[in-house]
Amino acid sequence: MNSCDHISWLQISGREETSIHHGDRFAKVITQLTTAQSQYPSLICFLGRKQKMTAMRELFPYNNFKRSHRGGFVNLRLDSATTESDFPLLLLDSDPLSPIPHLLHSPTCHQEDVLPTNWPRKREHSTIDTLYGRLVFLFCDVICLFAEDFDGLPQVARLIQSWLRVRSASSLPGKVRPRVIIVAKEETDSVTHSFLDLEDLRLSLQQEDIVRRNEVFASITLMRLAGDQISPLARFRRLKEVILLEADRAREMRLEERVLFSAKHIQCFLRQAIQHTASSITEPFDFIAHSRLGNELRHDYETHVCVFLNLARRYFLSMTTVNRFLASSIVMDAYPPRMHSRHFACPDHILLISITVFDSQRLFRSLYRQHYFRAFKKAFEFDDQAVRRCFMLEETLAAQFRAVETNMQSSALLRAEGLKLDSKYLKQLRTHLTCLNCLRRRPEHVLSCGHAICDICLQIFGSNLEGQESCFRVNECAICSQEVSVIGRVKPVTAGPRILSIDGGGTRGVVPLEFLRLLQNVIGPALPVQDLFDQAFGTSSGKR
Ligand SMILES: [Zn+2]
Ligand SMILES: [Zn+2]
Ligand SMILES: [Zn+2]
Repeated sequence: MNSCDHISWLQISGREETSIHHGDRFAKVITQLTTAQSQYPSLICFLGRKQKMTAMRELFPYNNFKRSHRGGFVNLRLDSATTESDFPLLLLDSDPLSPIPHLLHSPTCHQEDVLPTNWPRKREHSTIDTLYGRLVFLFCDVICLFAEDFDGLPQVARLIQSWLRVRSASSLPGKVRPRVIIVAKEETDSVTHSFLDLEDLRLSLQQEDIVRRNEVFASITLMRLAGDQISPLARFRRLKEVILLEADRAREMRLEERVLFSAKHIQCFLRQAIQHTASSITEPFDFIAHSRLGNELRHDYETHVCVFLNLARRYFLSMTTVNRFLASSIVMDAYPPRMHSRHFACPDHILLISITVFDSQRLFRSLYRQHYFRAFKKAFEFDDQAVRRCFMLEETLAAQFRAVETNMQSSALLRAEGLKLDSKYLKQLRTHLTCLNCLRRRPEHVLSCGHAICDICLQIFGSNLEGQESCFRVNECAICSQEVSVIGRVKPVTAGPRILSIDGGGTRGVVPLEFLRLLQNVIGPALPVQDLFDQAFGTSSGKR
């Protein structure tokens, strides 16, 4: 591919049937960061035209704002002065009044995905307003609007009104919505005059818009730029201070709500949010659910919980033991043992605040509650009992979550300690339907004590055999604390799905059988040949 001078993060085409084009701009930009998985960027979005570009050049003088750079609907740059900072600045810029091209040719210099949208033809809101409100603003901490580029404040008020009507697609709390700074030209030195302008702007918003304001934007501030009588540096210094202050406030809110994302997290969410927006402009974008893509709780999760609840009832386990068992299984599932975590000193908090993505209550309600409600209902029959048990589980989970966080403890260790504490009750429970270590999967290996364990738990609770990356040894059963000695082999992470397909019955089926027998001879009797395949199919040859 040719060398690429595109700075566009998003492109759109087609007026009636819109398509969203996006390349690898975000991934490319964050490669300039020192450690993208532990740097937490602030996204500042600049909206306007000429005045916007002048301001960006003055505000970020060490950045390269070449005219030859090829831009799009939303462009993305990294402020080069902050590449090593814990909180780098990512600069988005866009022009809300730019026309949408009918057709866009694919670039030859970089890979680009084109997503046709699934939006209704007749829509209440314009394409550009929809994309800002439901996609771009999902990730913005600060939005800077240059009133001069929009013929003054009344036009700015109209833009804000239309974004309020689009509403926000974010599932995150209202406090972390973007903070808007309206940048207007100074007409008078009078403070009263500036105040009146902001009041006028508020008055021009209708009652319904005022209610929606807090759902869409965390704050709206008016800031006046000094006239040409002073140097550009002095003119924009104050604006930079305001932008950085608002970015700091936005970060504090994100820390408080536990939704401060690293550059790597944002990269994954952006890609998913683009796909989500292309397919729906009515459904909210659920950050928690999207953080679990590839590891969703499947329909069988409820069955595994029921298997445990039935065993718990049969062996008269106390409610405390049951709650502790379920909560630590959720902690281990939701906060994977090797999950990254960082602590920051926050100016207004004496304690350090740690980033262990997502608050336990929000996480439980978004992902687990529905499964537990149904499982409790099956076990206890009544809705109010199920609601009460869910509430109690949520409380235990919050306490365990705090323990993991304050002690910076691994969630697997918390699980192991919890199981040990209750091992005298848990040792009686036996099932080959559910791995009681995690309550997520069916077990694959049976230990000498009679308890069974799945491949994933074998890796979590076992230790890797030296020189054999897919072999793990377990010395102690986590459920009954008994000494065991089991070596289990798991499928290597690099292996794809292994499918055995036998075509034809009768004599045609005999030939592949002979192949399988020869294969078994080569690998020896310790490993049954059928265990080498994840799925087997046969035409007229029966099934495995
Ligand atoms: Zn390119
Ligand atoms: Zn397991
Ligand atoms: Zn055991």
